[in-house]
Amino acid sequence: MSESGRILCISDLHLSAERPDIFKAFSDFLGNTARGASALYILGDFFNLWIGDDDPDPFAAQVKAELASMSASGTEVFLMHGNRDFLIGNGFARDCDLTVIAEPYVLSCFGHRYLLMHGDALCTRDTGYMAFREQVRHPEWQSTFLSQPVAQRLAFARDARAQSKAISSNKADDIMDVTPDEVAKVLSEHGESVLVHGHTHRPAIHDISLNDQAGKRIVLGDWDTRGWYLELNTNGYALKDFTI
Ligand code: MN
Repeated sequence: MSESGRILCISDLHLSAERPDIFKAFSDFLGNTARGASALYILGDFFNLWIGDDDPDPFAAQVKAELASMSASGTEVFLMHGNRDFLIGNGFARDCDLTVIAEPYVLSCFGHRYLLMHGDALCTRDTGYMAFREQVRHPEWQSTFLSQPVAQRLAFARDARAQSKAISSNKADDIMDVTPDEVAKVLSEHGESVLVHGHTHRPAIHDISLNDQAGKRIVLGDWDTRGWYLELNTNGYALKDFTI
């Protein structure tokens, strides 16, 4: 990993053809803010929905072209799955010249270490979601799903989203947020003290207490009316936002 320059982390852009404003913000972000960065880490829910690399949606091709040109300019691009785009596969990665990384991922740079996650796996109080997650992350479920025609997969995914929306609106706020004990557990299992995640759409930097030391939980925001990114450099980290 390069020790000069900057590394950027983003998550929850929820890119879709229905939000050209977000796509434009992303394109501008790559062309300006991210230009010259040594690496870009995308921490999940990059797409609002991903039903397989073989989806012929022309919007996907536009996004791929942006990422491929970022990669060609010398910025290494890494992508972690989120709960909406966990079916992003090797075909997509190859087309964009990016590297898919598994969570949790230890990013070591500029003399600091950051544990990167999407965040959904930390919301353990949402037992209904955790059961769904286990099901759809299973390789067998995924290969069965991916063998269905695109139209059938799209219908299933839209159903699942509508259901999840309906259920979420009835869930208490703390159920939809990360479980503090789970955060401490994951950090201690990996011997880390700084966690970076998205998913909850609650951008903030939290002080947390771990067994024998103080820690941080840095939460990236989703891109909607504002865009969010975490900048890592020799000075440490900064969570930044801008208008979309
Ligand atoms: Mn998410």
